Amino acid sequence: MEKLLIVNLFNKEVVVNVKISNRNASRVIVYGGHIYLTLKDNFSISDVEKKLMRVFTKSRIDKLYSSLYITDYYVDILGIRRRLVNLSKGQNRISKEDFVVENQKQIDSKLKNLLYDIIQSRVEKYSQIMNIPISYQVKITSMRSCIGKNYFTKNLLTFDHDLIHYSLEIIDSVVVHELTHYFVHNHSIDFYDILLKYVPNYKQLSQKLINGVRQ
Ligand SMILES: [Zn+2]
Repeated sequence: MEKLLIVNLFNKEVVVNVKISNRNASRVIVYGGHIYLTLKDNFSISDVEKKLMRVFTKSRIDKLYSSLYITDYYVDILGIRRRLVNLSKGQNRISKEDFVVENQKQIDSKLKNLLYDIIQSRVEKYSQIMNIPISYQVKITSMRSCIGKNYFTKNLLTFDHDLIHYSLEIIDSVVVHELTHYFVHNHSIDFYDILLKYVPNYKQLSQKLINGVRQ
């Protein structure tokens, strides 16, 4: 089970995803400016705050861009915040930039399809540039701490659905990362030699992804 909390750390509101597990692995991950934490069932907000204040410094928390990707009013798409219009709630389109859905359920499926189309075309583009003679199958799933994965033996690449909230430059950096695993399976120096050839500012872009900076 998961809970979404907004807690106050060093006078800043931070989004925390709490996963409840009785094994209490107590794992802390930061991805997309949000903190992912595993806790036992009976916790209070102040437990979460105390725990996180021990783990993080103020300057680390200050770097997080922790706002939600989607609220009732907006959705961040490709690094740009757009007004969300839900027709079933009687909202009306104002601008052609608005993200329009017929109902709440459609939000996820529309975003997922959009990301699929984008990633499919970027994988094709970068496979050509990098001379990769494989036609990869692409899947979009909810992966959270892991942003992408290259299943070497299946010619399959999977990507986390939250990538749709980030700029195309950031999405491309993840696509090239996964394609680089065609040449090198681990994250050794050889791996980064190839990756940085195609994405020279890779480290900066991956920091943005960790801290939730969307463009
Ligand atoms: Zn990797």
